[in-house]
Amino acid sequence: MNYCSELNNVLTFFPDTIRSCCVLGNIGPVYFENYNGNIKEFNFELLKKKKKKFFSDLENGNYDNIPCINCIYKKEKGENDKFSEQFELIYLNNWTQCNCGCFYCDRLTYSKGKITKGKVRSEYYDALPIIKGLYKNNLLNRNNLRIVFHGGDLSVLKEFEPLVKLFLKEGVSKIDFSTNNIIYQPIISKCLKNRIASLNMALDSGSRETYKKIKKVDKYNDVIKNLKRYVKESKQDNPEINVKFIILKGMNDTEEEITKFIETMVNIGIKRVSLHIEHRYAIELFEKKVELPQNYKKLINLFFDLSKKNQLYFDEPDEVMNYIIRS
Ligand code: SF4
Ligand code: SF4
Repeated sequence: MNYCSELNNVLTFFPDTIRSCCVLGNIGPVYFENYNGNIKEFNFELLKKKKKKFFSDLENGNYDNIPCINCIYKKEKGENDKFSEQFELIYLNNWTQCNCGCFYCDRLTYSKGKITKGKVRSEYYDALPIIKGLYKNNLLNRNNLRIVFHGGDLSVLKEFEPLVKLFLKEGVSKIDFSTNNIIYQPIISKCLKNRIASLNMALDSGSRETYKKIKKVDKYNDVIKNLKRYVKESKQDNPEINVKFIILKGMNDTEEEITKFIETMVNIGIKRVSLHIEHRYAIELFEKKVELPQNYKKLINLFFDLSKKNQLYFDEPDEVMNYIIRS
């Protein structure tokens, strides 16, 4: 019999679908397609029924209605792998608006790069009434619940604060905030201080000019100021704040930019950094089995050397990164 913990635990809110897992190009079974945002029509009983059916289809290897046949995440069902009606991991991805315009952003296919000012409702549907309903119907595991904010950027989403307040009131174990950090959020600071949050962002630069070129807004100084503030207010030596540098061809792929990035992180007290290669380029190299250009190898080594020297924690490279670094 098969089992998949993603199917058992995860609920993902995308603009066009509400589905189970959020892996491998979002291929998991779909609960609702093109939900119209009317909570009166949101059928929690149907959600329960569908989850049960997906689970038993997977168990029995019946792939007619679930796209799991070739998925590497399914495994042989173990003794402790029991069906649960409750979800333990929620990805919030139901809006695409953002107050900057990273040229590599996936949301560009939805938003055409529009930069949003002020607070807005999701252009698709609100997640708040659904989350309320999930708690009410006892479909969230209050004792072991992780929330991941993706988006769009959470700072332009009207329902962002009410959502976090609801999680804090009803029960949550961990909230992962992904944001560009252009706007300081008191509620994020509070969660970091209480050690129930992580904050993740991509800075991709070590200077204001490069930042502006990549993000299409002149907000580098605001971001650095906000990062400093979060570190200070967390009252911890090593708050869970991860700052990413994505190497972008012809934009920030210089030793100077990486050196300045690491220097800035050290100066403002950030202890966790990570390095990526722009995902489309990385996948292209990976799929075509093309060797990574020499200058990229040099930059990667520089990044890891400087991180080690400054005792910064950095993620180990994933499978794609590993392949391209080693090739
Ligand atoms: S088997 Fe794969 S596709 Fe299916 S739910 Fe699990 S992770 Fe998603
Ligand atoms: S901050 Fe995130 S959502 Fe906004 S443009 Fe950049 S990658 Fe896209």
